[in-house]
Amino acid sequence: QRDQFGSVLDSLGEGVFVTDNNGKITYENDSILTILQISSSVKKNIKDLNIKALQNMFENVDKDGRFDYEFQIELKNGDIKWILGSMNRAKTTNEYILVVHDVTQLRENASMRRDFISNLSHELRTPVSVIFANAETLLDGAIDNKKDAKVFSKAIMHNAERISGLVSDLIDLSRIDYGELHLDLKELDVCEIIDIVNRSHYTSAKNKSIEIKFDKCNCPHVLGDKAAIERILTNLLDNAIKYTKANNGGEVNITTKVIEDSIEISVKDSGTGISDADKDFIFNRFYRTPEARASQKSGSGLGLAIVKNLTISLGGKYGVRNRNKKNGSVFWFSLPLYSK
Ligand code: ADP
Repeated sequence: QRDQFGSVLDSLGEGVFVTDNNGKITYENDSILTILQISSSVKKNIKDLNIKALQNMFENVDKDGRFDYEFQIELKNGDIKWILGSMNRAKTTNEYILVVHDVTQLRENASMRRDFISNLSHELRTPVSVIFANAETLLDGAIDNKKDAKVFSKAIMHNAERISGLVSDLIDLSRIDYGELHLDLKELDVCEIIDIVNRSHYTSAKNKSIEIKFDKCNCPHVLGDKAAIERILTNLLDNAIKYTKANNGGEVNITTKVIEDSIEISVKDSGTGISDADKDFIFNRFYRTPEARASQKSGSGLGLAIVKNLTISLGGKYGVRNRNKKNGSVFWFSLPLYSK
């Protein structure tokens, strides 16, 4: 029975220690060694483990017969792990039972939720207050002057569009997160899709005198979803144009390259480029580089998060690098080749 009980405890995700009245460890399961990243500790005293929080729990448990405590430990690689420990004194045997849970992921999720809400409110605050102020000005009399009325109404419309774009990006991201996005996977000619997306960016590029170049290739077909690939390319091309100076001989080059059983599509621009410090973050939701924020360019920081999530859903990879010797950056994503 004891063996059976031991193997049940070993297969638990929670870590368990049992100590005697003096704190000497008499039982440990496998999980506690993994969670606390220590070697076998049976026969050692809990005080000798060099984890102050455990010692603290042991010293305080006698007051109420139970002591719960959340603490952090630093791992060998410098990462922090959050542990929720619960120590009980068994009335019959006078032994102490410690159960620990790794709550790092839970804490990270909670902090992501907090960041998400704070980012979202931040992004909504500006357009909402602009709409409010412009509507107020209209009602205060500007509505009677045709010219003014047009200016203020346009500002309302522009900001309502911003909110609408933000909300639809968020809906798309949550659909991907919850696996509700239905992907219609088919054999597709990726060059055709690139052509379609290029055409739809013709005017916005021309307005900034930016040339979009795409050497039509004879590339093999991919397995993918047309709408998702169009969305990825649209977001990358929108950015390539947005972050390239107007009337400065700007250029966007799109290339494709077969790498093993996938095809890599790169969008090269001659824009501001991305600093090394920002590269790790730009695919995160709401992340915008300090330069992008300072430049007042419209944007929510959700475009690349959609690129990342859609590419992963399609079974591909994504990334960014700066251009060799030239200004600008290269955003790329890959898609699996179609195989019969
Ligand atoms: P945004 O709506 O702000 O453009 P994205 O998620 O598309 O959001 O991009 C995140 C950030 O990455 C941008 O705010 C910008 O700072 C940076 N970025 C994206 N694409 C480029 C690019 N082609 N050149 C320079 N910076 C870029």
